[in-house]
Amino acid sequence: AAKRLAGKTVVVTGASSGIGRSTAAEFARVAAPAGGLRLILTARRIDTLKEIAEEITKELGDKVKVLPVQLDVSDREAVRGFVGNLPEEWRDIDVLVNNAGLVKGIARAPEIAEEDIDVMFATNVTGLVHMTQAILPVFLKRGSDGGAGDVINIGSIAGLDPYPGGSIYCATKAAVRSFSESLRKELISTRVRVIEIDPGQVETEFSVVRFYGDKSKADAVYAGVNPLTPEDIAEVVVFAASRPENVVIANSLIFPQHQG
Ligand code: NDP
Repeated sequence: AAKRLAGKTVVVTGASSGIGRSTAAEFARVAAPAGGLRLILTARRIDTLKEIAEEITKELGDKVKVLPVQLDVSDREAVRGFVGNLPEEWRDIDVLVNNAGLVKGIARAPEIAEEDIDVMFATNVTGLVHMTQAILPVFLKRGSDGGAGDVINIGSIAGLDPYPGGSIYCATKAAVRSFSESLRKELISTRVRVIEIDPGQVETEFSVVRFYGDKSKADAVYAGVNPLTPEDIAEVVVFAASRPENVVIANSLIFPQHQG
């Protein structure tokens, strides 16, 4: 599996915390013994990305090359210019992990604040679509048989099993599922794989963001569930990316045992 990742260039969005951060670290750890890879870490918090890059280099040496890039996926122009602004040797991207996402304003539909609706769609849906559009041309011009590469989208159980109070977040994740599925079907004549991983409850900063920084409310969400760790999801992402190229883990729902 590690050999299939060696030499690749991987982009992770939302790599400054939680699932994205762990996913980046897992790609690095798995690929390092087989020759390493290039890892592009993106998020808004550039200082945190720089620290993570240093940590990975300290642990694994310079086989794994890490490039931290500040990128807000909801900034249309920044996303459009993303590939072109990379140093030349970093542009030959093989894997895009669309992980950046957030939930805000758990409230009944009539009360959800307009800005929360906008930020969730702009990040979770439009941002993910624009990132995919920005990087797909790199995949499609690879080789002579229609291109190759992996688009890995982080969806959520929320997109499949919507809950009261989460209507907009659930709708954004349902959109991710539909987009992934359409794209996968559009690309079946190529070697571009479209993979969606749908986590259940994972303990990250995510829930703290949902409650605008209220840690006690965030902790209550995970009570009695023994939630997944970000590493649990990271391992599945890297597993999917390291399958033989005709194997597509099109959808995968990952739950903690006690989540209903
Ligand atoms: P975290 O809050 O820990 O991480 C979210 C990441 O997204 C951060 O790195 C943040 O970085 C980044 N991000 C947010 N907005 C933007 C933006 N506009 N542009 C670029 N990056 C952005 O949450 P998780 O790790 O839990 O969430 C990761 C993904 O997993 C999300 O898509 C989420 O919906 C999904 N998920 C999470 C579940 C959970 O229970 N935790 C369950 C199911 C799915 P920064 O602030 O530096 O920009």
